[in-house]
Amino acid sequence: MGGERLVALDLVDTQLLAATPPVDLIETPEQLAQWWSLQEVRLPAGPVPDCAAVRRLRAAVRDVLDSHLAGELPSATSVDDINAAAAGAPQSLRMVAHGNGLQAATRWHPEYGGNAALASMARETIELMTDAERLATLRRCANPNCSMLFLAEHRRRQWCIGSRCGNRARVARHYEKTRQS
Ligand SMILES: [Zn+2]
Repeated sequence: MGGERLVALDLVDTQLLAATPPVDLIETPEQLAQWWSLQEVRLPAGPVPDCAAVRRLRAAVRDVLDSHLAGELPSATSVDDINAAAAGAPQSLRMVAHGNGLQAATRWHPEYGGNAALASMARETIELMTDAERLATLRRCANPNCSMLFLAEHRRRQWCIGSRCGNRARVARHYEKTRQS
């Protein structure tokens, strides 16, 4: 686990909120399809949902994460949207043959009308929000011109991995070192 990126966080980070004007990296169906092709190995198989459904989940996830960072409660609508996405394609556990024995496998149920990938990202968010220890590692990048959210694998990590922010982080580390010596 550790610093493993959540797809839900990558989804939230497709919106560069600190840019003027804000930039949406999945604004068009073409951009969404491109982002999806990069993420699909980490998501359950199924069709690419429409832009509106993805944006709606993204807004809800952003709201619960931002609210947590601000020490506030998220809106009930955001919580409902995430719960609805998770419930839209529930999971079941099944056994499949493996060698001479059986192995557990997860089956997603899109037949309930939802999208398994959206359900998976919603579930990641629910698991993160209800795991106090892990949630304590949630950070917004320390660069005021960057809106990226990430889970800090080291307590002191303050910057996202973007090239500009990464560079600031190196400068900050260098400053820290020279200040201490
Ligand atoms: Zn950053």
